[in-house]
Amino acid sequence: MSHYYRNRFNKNYSRATRRIKSFDPSSLVQSNSFTQTKETEYIAVNSFTNLAISDILKKNILVKGYTKPTPIQDQVIPQILEGKDVIGIANTGTGKTAAFLIPLLNEVEKNRSKKVLIVAPTRELAVQIKNEFFAFSRGMNIYSSLCIGGVSIYGQKYELRRNPNFVIGTPGRIKDLVNQRGLNLSTFNIVVLDEVDQMLDFGFIGDIRYLISFLSKNRQSLFFSATIDARTKELLAGFVRNPVTVSVKKQDILKNIKHDIVRVSDRSRKIEQLHDLLIKKEFEKVLIFGRTKWGVQRLSDELVQRGFNADVIHGNKSQSQRLRILEKFKVNAIQILLATDVASRGLDIDKVSHVINYDPPESYETYIHRIGRTGRAEKPGTAITFV
Ligand code: AMP
Repeated sequence: MSHYYRNRFNKNYSRATRRIKSFDPSSLVQSNSFTQTKETEYIAVNSFTNLAISDILKKNILVKGYTKPTPIQDQVIPQILEGKDVIGIANTGTGKTAAFLIPLLNEVEKNRSKKVLIVAPTRELAVQIKNEFFAFSRGMNIYSSLCIGGVSIYGQKYELRRNPNFVIGTPGRIKDLVNQRGLNLSTFNIVVLDEVDQMLDFGFIGDIRYLISFLSKNRQSLFFSATIDARTKELLAGFVRNPVTVSVKKQDILKNIKHDIVRVSDRSRKIEQLHDLLIKKEFEKVLIFGRTKWGVQRLSDELVQRGFNADVIHGNKSQSQRLRILEKFKVNAIQILLATDVASRGLDIDKVSHVINYDPPESYETYIHRIGRTGRAEKPGTAITFV
C-alpha cells in the first residue's frame, strides 16, 4: 500500500471502527459454543456435472477437488450464466470466488469478445482470485492480467496491451492505469466488485465511483459484499440493473467454528497462556491477530525466541515479503502466522486449525472477518479470544 493510501486507509479505518459499538466476544461463546449440535446440511439443487458449463471447466473443477457446489455457488452460478446482474451477500469462506469465476470463464469461452473486470479491496485478495483463475482456466486459452499496487505499473501496461479477457485488480492501481491510458474500461462488458463493504471501509468509495463512471452501460454487473448497509446500497443503485439477490448468511460460516475465550487476569502472564496453547498438539496451523503492527511484530519475535515456527505480516512489510510469508504458511512451512486486521483482509488460507484473537477484535464485523479464516468450506475450526 503506498504511503498515501496507507494514511488515507488508516484514517478511514479508525473512523469506521469508532462508529461500531465495541463487541464482547464472550457473548458468542455462550450462544454458539462447543455445545453446538450438527446443523442440517445444505442440499444443493445443482451439481457441477449438471450445470450448463463446458466439459473442460467441469474437469478443472474436479481437479481442484470440488465435488459439490457451496450454497452461494449453487444459487449464483445459474443466474450469472443467464446473464443476470447479481448481488451476492456472502463473506470469504463461502466459495464466492468460484461462484463468479466458473460462470464467467464459461461465458468468455463461448464468446471471446466478453471482457471481465474484477475489482477487489486488497492486493492479497486479488492475487488469490488470480490463483483460482489459473486453476479453473487451465487448458482454456483464456488469459488474465493482475493489476495491483506495490509492483511496477509498466509490466501491467504491457500485459494489458495483449488484451486479456480478465483483468483482476485493486481500485487504486486500476484507476492509475485508466488515467495513464493503459486500460480502457468501456471495453469491459462484465464487471465484478468483490468485498464491497471492505472497499468502502478502506475509503475506496471515490475510486469505485470513478471507475464505474467509465464502464459501458451495456454490461453484466456482479456485486459481492458480506453486508449490505446504507453505503453499499447507494453504490448498488448506480451499478446493478434488475439484480437477483442471493444471501448466504453469516450463520453458515459460523456453524463449523467453535468459539472460546481465554480470560487474562494478569497481563504479564498473557504470553504464557498463549505459549501453553500453542504447544498443544491440535494447534497445527494457527493464525494470531493483534491490533497494531508493532504489537504483532513484538509477539512474533518473542514466539520465535521461544522456539516456535512463526512469522508475521503487517503494513510495514513489503508486498513481496507478505506474499512470501503467506505462501509459507499456506504450504505449512510455518506453523503460526501473526497478522494485523489490515494485512489479513479477505485472505483465503486453507485448513487453519485455530484463529487466536490475542487482542480482541474491535467490532463484530472484525471478529467475523478474523474467524472466517478457520472452519472454511466445511472444515471445522476453533476461534479463541483473549479477554
Ligand atoms: P472463497 O469464499 O471464494 O474465498 O473460498 C473459500 C474456500 O473454499 C477456498 O479455499 C476454496 O478453494 C474453497 N471452496 C470453494 N468452493 C468449494 C467447493 N465447491 N468445494 C470445496 N471447497 C470449495
